[in-house]
Amino acid sequence: MPAEGVSGHINCDLLVIGSGAGGLSAAVTAAWHELKVVVAEKEPALGGTTAWSGGWMWTPLNPLARRAGIIEDLEAPRTYLRHVLGNTFNEVKVDAFLEAAPRMVAFFETHTALQFEAGLKIPDTYGQVPGAGTGGRSVIAAPYDGRGLGDLIHRLRRPMRETTFMGMTIQAGPDLSAFMNVTRSPRAFIHAAHRFGRHLIDLAVYRRGMQLRNGIALVGRLLRSAADLGVELRTSSPAVRLLQDGGAVCGAVLRTPEGEVEVRAHRGVVLAAGGFPHDRARRRALFPADEEHLTLAVPSATGDGLRLAEAVGGQVDATLAAPGAWCPVSLVPFPDGTIGRFPHIIERNKPGIIGVLATGRRFCNEGNGYHDYVEAMLRAVPSGQEVASWLVCTRAFQRRYGLGIARPTPLPVGPYIRSGYIKVGRTIAELARACGIDPDGLERTVAEYNRHARKGEDPAFGRGSTPYNRAGGDPANRPNPCVAPIERGPFYAVKVVPGSFGTFAGVKTDANARVLDAGGAPIPGLYAAGTDMASVMGGHYPAGGINLGPAMTFGYIAGRHAAGVTAYETDGQATRSEVRG
Ligand SMILES: Cc1cc2nc3c(=O)[nH]c(=O)nc-3n(C[C@H](O)[C@H](O)[C@H](O)COP(=O)(O)OP(=O)(O)OC[C@H]3O[C@@H](n4cnc5c(N)ncnc54)[C@H](O)[C@@H]3O)c2cc1C
Repeated sequence: MPAEGVSGHINCDLLVIGSGAGGLSAAVTAAWHELKVVVAEKEPALGGTTAWSGGWMWTPLNPLARRAGIIEDLEAPRTYLRHVLGNTFNEVKVDAFLEAAPRMVAFFETHTALQFEAGLKIPDTYGQVPGAGTGGRSVIAAPYDGRGLGDLIHRLRRPMRETTFMGMTIQAGPDLSAFMNVTRSPRAFIHAAHRFGRHLIDLAVYRRGMQLRNGIALVGRLLRSAADLGVELRTSSPAVRLLQDGGAVCGAVLRTPEGEVEVRAHRGVVLAAGGFPHDRARRRALFPADEEHLTLAVPSATGDGLRLAEAVGGQVDATLAAPGAWCPVSLVPFPDGTIGRFPHIIERNKPGIIGVLATGRRFCNEGNGYHDYVEAMLRAVPSGQEVASWLVCTRAFQRRYGLGIARPTPLPVGPYIRSGYIKVGRTIAELARACGIDPDGLERTVAEYNRHARKGEDPAFGRGSTPYNRAGGDPANRPNPCVAPIERGPFYAVKVVPGSFGTFAGVKTDANARVLDAGGAPIPGLYAAGTDMASVMGGHYPAGGINLGPAMTFGYIAGRHAAGVTAYETDGQATRSEVRG
């Protein structure tokens, strides 16, 4: 009998709360191992922040790299992480991740609709650190034709407006490069014209883009796999409280449009509700400079998973090096009056742009990781002042590489100047005044930067000194792909403030993704994956893809553990019933 006030009752083996990478990975894995799985999603649309993401997954030793001839043993990424993570390095959890990540990739590509492409040329962020990889440690979901989802396409979250072109997702690598070079190469033009032409047809027929790439391809492929395996996907159904039997978690109550539904889950519950990027109270407690903070995560990621865990004795680990996965963000005034948030991922690395504070001074190697740019900004701005910086370049730079959401030639920049998104000056001093930057400071900085940049050097911050820097630069710019002078006006600038892809601080778990209580013991039946779980990277950002790689991997670990799996199906010819414990 349902409890009082509860209008429905469902029985299953595993309940997954949240439909991003962490949740869907757990759901598909458990369903493939023959569990009856229900996914509860708070929103009408499935996919969470994962559907808005770049989709890269850091998965060292993955089979795609091996097939491409990149052979390394586990010691290399472990050494790298030991150095980068410092005193936040948790050997047991890092090893669990490194051992399971390649198996996770092999599992999905062998048994499900989730197929991958390799990031063979993507280096780790800190190339100077022992064990750093120079390529092959990342994978991304292969592009997916949304028509493969059938009716499920209508329940798939739409991609992020700011990072798409009229709703079309563009993938880092050859795809993006083609769009950046449409006016330079006939091949690039043909590729871009073909993609865009098809997109226009999709918009006319389906009212949305159907060539899914990046994070939305990952979600699309996971949803196809989940549907194939009979996973029940319940949208508009937030989990509001966990059910316990003795000390064990055995389900949750969902608030659905039809009333509260009690879901009994005999093997337990996976929390994968996307962390707390929109929980102002917890952010205020844990984030530096919260007032200026602009998160890029979906609005429904309000910290429910952490609260649900805490209500049954789970602990939030607030000791990480940083509580969030930072990214510099600019505010975009759209013509319809709404304000967008643009993540500055690509242009900071190109030759001919610098980042400066209100004093006009540079403060970091702008081509380093997005997380590092924000960390440097937080360190450099004196307390009590607004944490902000300006990316400064020439008009020629903007036309070549783009600046924030203002895309390069042949797309017009005028609307962004008129809206005030891009500030303009005929001289550096005029630009500084338009931004509210100290004009003398900026003139001095640009003169000093240019003196060395003409020789391709950056003695102040070493732009172009790491493989990561160089991979994001422009190989045609010699001698340094990341350094060029800023000389001929007009000059452009855009203001950026601290933002985040999501949160790093989260629920404490063990190597099996089980949520731990105050005494460090696993709470029976309760798992966490994705950003609900305290990041295995300890609040550091050693490489692109360190959110989704662990989200997919610990989701996979949780799904297997809940199914009682004791052997790896990819190690031999074991069938799914043979690997069951
Ligand atoms: C622009 C952008 C680019 C990015 N690129 C990358 C990248 O390339 N690589 C990388 O590693 N990371 C990237 N990230 C970060 C990455 O996307 C996130 O860390 C990741 O998607 C989080 O996955 P998740 O499964 O934890 O949560 P999500 O994908 O956010 O899913 C959580 C889901 O839970 C739902 N939910 C919330 N509360 C409840 C509740 N009470 N009941 C039921 N459901 C609930 C939410 O609605 C949401 O759908 C990027 C982020 C952004 C914004």
